[in-house]
Amino acid sequence: MKGSIVLFGPPGAGKGTQATRIVEYTSKPQVSTGDMLRAALSNGTELGLEAKSFMEAGELVPDGVILRLISERLKMDDARNGVLFDGFPRTIAQAEELAKIAEVSAVISIQVPDDSIVQRIVGRRMDPETGEIFHVDFKPAPESIVNRLVQRKDDNESTVRNRLKAYHEQTSPLATWYDNQGLLIRVNGEQTIKQVGDEIFSQMFSVR
Ligand code: ADP
Ligand code: ADP
Repeated sequence: MKGSIVLFGPPGAGKGTQATRIVEYTSKPQVSTGDMLRAALSNGTELGLEAKSFMEAGELVPDGVILRLISERLKMDDARNGVLFDGFPRTIAQAEELAKIAEVSAVISIQVPDDSIVQRIVGRRMDPETGEIFHVDFKPAPESIVNRLVQRKDDNESTVRNRLKAYHEQTSPLATWYDNQGLLIRVNGEQTIKQVGDEIFSQMFSVR
């Protein structure tokens, strides 16, 4: 498939989880603005400092900061055949800017109701060595690595309410925006991880 693919959905919908399989199949690199912002933060860059208070409050980081990150990333060699965006774009303004610099071929919308989101976010854990995402109930990590798992600072119940609010107010209108362009593919995110992946693959690539 030519161009870039967007993984779209509320926080905790399973975008990062599904990205791994799509990256393997398409060879497009995953571009996660959340991961890039967390890296900038832990490296103490100026951009990281600009983003910090917004991330900790569960608010969206200003469009200008995000677009600076993305335009730099898309200049890299591995992005020339398109990328898999995860968590970007999150506002109509971001999508409009993206349309000027890259071609979007499909937008996969993973649909999960708010009630399930809180449970997913609060139970999320990450392996800092491999980046693999686990869940205390839904995707338990092997015993041998449980001790090294980390929890994101913003993955708590009060922040997640703000993140959901930001999603409904600023991000979800993008679904209609992309649907009007015939690019939106809707997937039921309230199935097992394997079933969600299978639905993405049958709709996107006609394979399972
Ligand atoms: P996002 O990237 O959209 O924020 P993640 O992929 O990090 O979401 O998933 C959020 C949490 O929910 C993780 O702990 C993950 O293991 C879990 N998860 C992902 N997909 C499913 C699913 N289909 N069913 C149950 N839990 C899931
Ligand atoms: P999740 O999918 O669990 O919401 P992300 O890792 O995608 O988490 O994002 C974490 C935080 O980083 C967001 O709450 C927001 O503050 C910031 N962020 C990430 N991507 C964007 C974006 N495209 N626009 C604005 N803020 C962003």
